[in-house]
Amino acid sequence: MPHAVVLGAGVIGLSTALHLQSQSPYSITLLARDFPLPSETIDAVSQINFTSPWGGAHNRLVPPTNPTEEREHAMSLRTFTHMKTLHSQNPGEAGITFMKGVEYLEAPGPAYKELNDEKAKSLGMEGFRLLRKEEYPDERVTWGCEYDTWCVNPMVFCSFLLRRFVYLGGKVVRREVRDPVEIFGMRDLGEVDVVVNCSGNGFGDEKVFITRGQTCLVANACPVTVTRQNADGSWTFCVPRNFQGGTIIGGTKEPNNWDPNPSPEVRAGLLKKFAATYPCILDSHGGGFQVIKDIVGRRPTRKGGMRLEREQLSNGKSIVHAYGLGGRGYELSWGVAEGVAELLPKPTTRTSKL
Ligand SMILES: Cc1cc2nc3c(=O)[nH]c(=O)nc-3n(C[C@H](O)[C@H](O)[C@H](O)COP(=O)(O)OP(=O)(O)OC[C@H]3O[C@@H](n4cnc5c(N)ncnc54)[C@H](O)[C@@H]3O)c2cc1C
Repeated sequence: MPHAVVLGAGVIGLSTALHLQSQSPYSITLLARDFPLPSETIDAVSQINFTSPWGGAHNRLVPPTNPTEEREHAMSLRTFTHMKTLHSQNPGEAGITFMKGVEYLEAPGPAYKELNDEKAKSLGMEGFRLLRKEEYPDERVTWGCEYDTWCVNPMVFCSFLLRRFVYLGGKVVRREVRDPVEIFGMRDLGEVDVVVNCSGNGFGDEKVFITRGQTCLVANACPVTVTRQNADGSWTFCVPRNFQGGTIIGGTKEPNNWDPNPSPEVRAGLLKKFAATYPCILDSHGGGFQVIKDIVGRRPTRKGGMRLEREQLSNGKSIVHAYGLGGRGYELSWGVAEGVAELLPKPTTRTSKL
């Protein structure tokens, strides 16, 4: 049976390993330095480069305006459908919640302004409704809508994927590598035909950079996920994690900022702006926020978009690269996993498991 090693156990590696396990003729090993843990125990400093614990994570449907965004949009729809299936088959276990996504934009681009019921339907947005002006939080907002979407509690979701992979017979190895090529020489893994590089940042890819995000986790509950685009280019949002995981209030997007320390001033600004946008979030805690902790994460971003391609090595082996998901790793996860499956070489000499 051909053998693929998936390198990386963030949301991309876990989704890919699970998908390949059932939908490819390969046997799958999952190898990584970091694995999902309860988020309460993940170290904010030593594991800052493991991005998946620090994500929101919600699904924002973005109307596409170019071929890259169109490809991503298609992936987000595939992921949406998959999340629905996972949620309905594992209610309460997979860490997924379906709810309304509410958007308030101060400076909407043409793709948003064109959105109406018909256009939204053609983009696969379910439950879409343009908001009335009187529903906007203030006069700076010039456009608003709501639609059906999902949020996950990241470590509940990722731990579920890992558990499921092992339950279905997947093999797991905790190991750090300097280069994906190393894996072909690891005798204890047996013959390895393909490595799938789901390492988030790749290995020395010059197009990759980080986008720092500071958010604040609060105990306040919120029934919807809210995203506000501010005219100065900043964002104000909340992502209910549920499953006793509180709500994320965000957040910054700072390319190439490596500061691992949360700023108290930024936290105060995020909370103030969100309370002004969606005041009823304060109702559950006597008119204020109950802060659990500040979060700093590093979105693994890549100029020109994610790398999803196969590299053929001279020894007949191959590496499939699937990294650089930036701020959309959860949203696109299942679409990426399916993309990897399409890129795997068709096994020729060894016996298929199907
Ligand atoms: C503040 C913030 C908010 C976000 N909000 C959202 C959101 O709402 N929705 C959304 O979709 N996305 C969101 N994101 C983005 C999302 O979290 C990332 O896109 C996603 O987590 C990337 O996942 P990944 O699996 O590619 O990488 P990672 O989660 O970083 O996983 C990489 C894996 O590779 C392993 N690895 C790396 N190097 C090595 C090595 N040398 N040897 C062995 N193993 C290695 C790591 O140990 C890990 O297992 C947010 C991110 C941040 C920071």
